[in-house]
This record gives sequence, C-alpha cells and structure tokens, in this order.
Amino acid sequence: MEPAYKDKPHCMNGYPLNVLKFSDDDKIIIQNEELKEMLQHPKVKFRKIVPFSIIGAYRKGKSFLLDYCLRYLYAHYPSINCPNLINPDNWMGAKDEPLRGFSWRSGATRDTTGIIVWSDVFLHNCEMTGEKIAIIVMDTQGLFDTLTTATGNSRIFALGTLISSIQVLNLSGVVQEDQLQYLQFATEFAKFAAADKNELNAKPFQNLMFLVRDWVNWKDHDYGLEGGSTYLNTFLEIKPHQKDELKSVRQFIKESFEELTCSLLPHPGDRVIGNKKNQQMYDGNWGEMDEEFVKELAILIDHLLKPERLVLKKVNQNKLQAAEYFGYLDEYFHLFQSEEIPEAKTIYEITVDKNMNTLIDSCYDQYVQNIFQNEELIETSDQIVIVHRMSKNDALLLYKTSKKMGNKNHDLKFKDILSLKIEEYYKSWLNTSETNLKEIEEQKEKTRKLFQEK
Ligand code: GDP
Ligand code: MG
Repeated sequence: MEPAYKDKPHCMNGYPLNVLKFSDDDKIIIQNEELKEMLQHPKVKFRKIVPFSIIGAYRKGKSFLLDYCLRYLYAHYPSINCPNLINPDNWMGAKDEPLRGFSWRSGATRDTTGIIVWSDVFLHNCEMTGEKIAIIVMDTQGLFDTLTTATGNSRIFALGTLISSIQVLNLSGVVQEDQLQYLQFATEFAKFAAADKNELNAKPFQNLMFLVRDWVNWKDHDYGLEGGSTYLNTFLEIKPHQKDELKSVRQFIKESFEELTCSLLPHPGDRVIGNKKNQQMYDGNWGEMDEEFVKELAILIDHLLKPERLVLKKVNQNKLQAAEYFGYLDEYFHLFQSEEIPEAKTIYEITVDKNMNTLIDSCYDQYVQNIFQNEELIETSDQIVIVHRMSKNDALLLYKTSKKMGNKNHDLKFKDILSLKIEEYYKSWLNTSETNLKEIEEQKEKTRKLFQEK
C-alpha cells in the first residue's frame, strides 16, 4: 500500500499511518496492519512501550507541535529507520528548516481524523533500570471538531486515554468546563478499577498534560510549567458551590492519572497563524516564530520527552511490551467500532480479561516448562504424579503472588481456568509418559531375558 506521506524528509524516515478513521456516516474504520508489523518488529516487540499522544480540537497546532517533537526524538533516540542520532546538540535544527512530519496546515479544512501513528519507532535503553524501551508517537483528532459528532469525540478521547502513557490535551486560550467533561470516560473507568479494591488499587492511567496554547493571562500565571501548575490547581480545585457532577469529575481526574501537569504556551506570532498582510505560505520554520514561543516550545518538548521523563504504558501496574500492547489496542479499536459507545464497565471487563489471560498463560507456561525439565529423570508412575503436583503448585503459587486485576470473583474464575488447563495438559502427558514407561519396562524385560538365555 502506498504510504499517505510520499515525500519522506531525508532526516525523518517515517510517515503518518492513519490507523483509525471515521467514515462519512461516523463509523470507525480500522487499518492497523502496518501498525501491527511496526509493533511486532523483532527490534521492537519485546521492548516496553511508551505511547505518546496529543489530542484536541482541529487547527490548534497539534500536528505542528508533534513535528517538533519528532525533531527532538530523532535527535535524541535512535529509531528503527534512522539508527544515527540527528544533531543532538541542536535538536531544533536550522532556523529556516521547513517543518515536516505529520501534515499540518493553515487551511480551514480538517486534515487529520481519528488516530494517526508515526511509522517509525524510537528506541531507548534506560541506564537506571536497564529496561529496553520503544517510543511511538500518535496524533489524534476529533474533539470539539464541527465535523465530528459528540459520539465521535468521546470515542476518540476514550481511546486516546486508554492507549497512551503520556497524553497531551491541547487546548486554546483557557481550560473550559466542558473540556473537563471529555475526561469523563477516564474517570468512569477509574471508578471500576477503584471499586475492585484489589491489593494495589493503583491509578489506571499514567501522565496527562493540559497544554494551553495562546495563553494571554501571563500576569496571573506565567508561561511554562510553573505557571501551568498554579493554573491547574485553580481549575481543579473543588469548591463548595460547584455542581456535584463538576466536583465529581475533578475528584476522579485526580484519581485517574498518576501525574497531572499543565503548561502554558505563548502565542507563536503572526507569521505562524498567517495574516492578511503576509499571504506567503509559511513553512513551519522556527526562525519566524516569536522568540518567547520558541524558548517555551523547546522547554516543553524537553520536559515531555527527555529520557528520565519517559513513562511506560501500564495495565494494572504491568508494564506492557510492544507486541502485547498491540493486543490491547486491537481489542479496544474493535470494541469502539460498534454503533453504541461501549460503556466504561465493558471496557474495564475486557481489560481485566486480557490482563488475567496473559497472567494465566505465563503460569501455565511455567508448569509446562517444569514438566519438560523433569521428564528425562522420571522412572516410575509415582514420579509422574509427584512432578505434576510439584509443577502445579509452583504455577498456582506464581498466580497467587502475581499482581492481579479485578475483584475476588475474577480471581477465583481465572484460578479455576488455570487449574483446568493444567489438568488437561497433565492428562495427555500422563498417557504418553505411562506408555513410554511401559515401553521402557518391556525393553528392559526383553534385554534381561536375552541376557538370562545367554
Ligand atoms: P491541528 O489541526 O491541531 O493538528 O493543527 P495544525 O498543527 O495543523 O496547525 C493549524 C494551524 O495552527 C497552522 O497554521 C499552524 O501554523 C498554527 N499554529 C501552530 N501552533 C499554534 C499556536 O500555538 N497557536 C495558534 N494560534 N496557532 C498555531
Ligand atoms: Mg493535525
């Protein structure tokens, strides 16, 4: 298939993959074959994943920002397509370098719908933990867009939250009350997780940044992260006169994400937004932006993507590997494809199922491996039973001591499934082993007789 972005820039060897889009009648179309290949690439699949995404209204500079993020990433991390770092000491590049990457534009037409993933994957080996990490970049579109209905909006936001570990909510001017409502899904989901009261009771999502563009109230709250932090505190504050639903959404936003931050960006300057006097096409270079904006942009991107800030995607505290992550992503995409918006409860149940199935698979694998290791040493039927019991106990112990998602009922249900799988394996193993033992015994008997006759 022809990539959507044919004019590949020399230093950014990738292109945008529109993995999920809306049809004219607002149905979700999934095209994730290339994404699957990307996440199952031999150099990627076993790495822990950091999905970085941005979401918000169209024509508010999301893709524009992401393209500068790509410059940062190509400068600091090797990627599958570009193993050499590009200009790490001067990652923003030349003043007049045209901006490339995700397509961004000044026209009024909507350019990006659904979820677009950059086709290249960035690799990082964490010095502190030794963890091998893969970073992917996603551009999402749909929120507050006149063309995308409310249903589309909430679907895309919910998906964005489910599949990211660093999510930027791109807002213009100020944070408005109705924009907080878009976080409703995340908060509903968090309620189920909290209700389960499992031993961990961890927050279900990782980092969320409210990014406010074109900030003008710098006298009240300064540009950047510090001003953002005081501003965030003011709008997340729960006040007595607020309606209950507003109080509750604030409460749960705090309980849903491991980290909430806010950054306030100045206006980028007339050249960036285009004006009547200056009709010549602007190519995205930073030389023509306001100086203050360039400074804040560089600080922001460094804060979002520097190695020590990379946050791994977790489901129930388990850090997902890239190939495993694709499994979740595919499941969620298909769930959201139905006419009805799936309820948070359904999504939560599916997440529990997926998480617990992965756990019982690894416990089962351990049982089978134990059997393999001891098989050679077995000489009697009694030993078969002993090896089975020992291995089963080990597998159940692993299950018992692992982090589990869901409530007591889920726990019992999946423990039973594991036991059943093990017993089934045992039955067939017992059959073959006993036959083998019999054959060995017969062989021994024959040899003995032969020896006696001689
Ligand atoms: P997207 O639809 O949100 O992805 O927006 P784009 O990245 O395609 O950018 C739309 C327009 O906004 C372009 O003309 C950009 O030059 C411009 N733009 C980029 N950053 C900013 C910003 O911080 N403020 C404003 N007002 N415009 C911006
Ligand atoms: Mg865009």
